[in-house]
Amino acid sequence: MHTAPIAPRAATRRVLVAVTAAVRVVDGVDRVRLNAAYVRALESAGLVPLIVPPLADTDAAVRILDAVSGLVLSGGEDVDPSLYGDTPHPALGAVNCSRDVTELALLAAARERNLPTLAICRGIQVVNVGLGGTLVQDLPSQQSDVAEHELDGQRATRVHGVSVEPSSRLARILGSASLDVNSIHHQAVDRLGDAMRVSARADDGVIEGVESDDPDWWMVGVQWHPEELTATPEPWDRRLFDAFADACRAGVSSASTSLPSALGASASPSRVGLEKEAHR
Ligand code: MN
Repeated sequence: MHTAPIAPRAATRRVLVAVTAAVRVVDGVDRVRLNAAYVRALESAGLVPLIVPPLADTDAAVRILDAVSGLVLSGGEDVDPSLYGDTPHPALGAVNCSRDVTELALLAAARERNLPTLAICRGIQVVNVGLGGTLVQDLPSQQSDVAEHELDGQRATRVHGVSVEPSSRLARILGSASLDVNSIHHQAVDRLGDAMRVSARADDGVIEGVESDDPDWWMVGVQWHPEELTATPEPWDRRLFDAFADACRAGVSSASTSLPSALGASASPSRVGLEKEAHR
């Protein structure tokens, strides 16, 4: 969809964020792989993505977080059900154990550091498992009366409605109590993990959003793919990436600069609110 080079907003400071990726066989060769839509969406929000593949040494993976201001857990394979005490359902898709281990280590470290974390599709599932929750392994075969949620051929099409909890961080970010989203998943959050809350549900009740209930940890998870929707007329998905970018910048400010420079002339009222929250 985007063919022209991205022009980040000149006035915003660019900060690095880690984005997880898969290793997959493509054309017969193991390759590190990330959909370029993530890169475009993050760049458009003024962020510089640093791609993190599964690493054998999880301590080394965590060290990457020393260099970044935020973490994006990206979409991909199903999470290994043994990680949440379940046995594989016949409709379980491909799993990637080294990716699970790497991403769970990154999540734990991000939570420990209050590093802003945006979790997308598989990412929301990794967060839920990492915080002690469980997943529905296959929506069509395990839940009745659910809509079709796996529409891979319509990646940039808004195919179902989502209702947002009015008091949630997500509602403040989106500026809306409802939105329409794309849907490219057959799994979903089941029993919720600790220290988090449901922020959004599809019209059929499937959980489409979660967030941290700790005001000091900006963690927003969505089951849809906002990175595929940032070029649509509706503002919701751009607002989500912009809010993540604001949280990353606020963290940089609180760690490395004084408050007055963090509240510089370009700060909008919403920026100021976010930064105050980050300093709490
Ligand atoms: Mn969905």
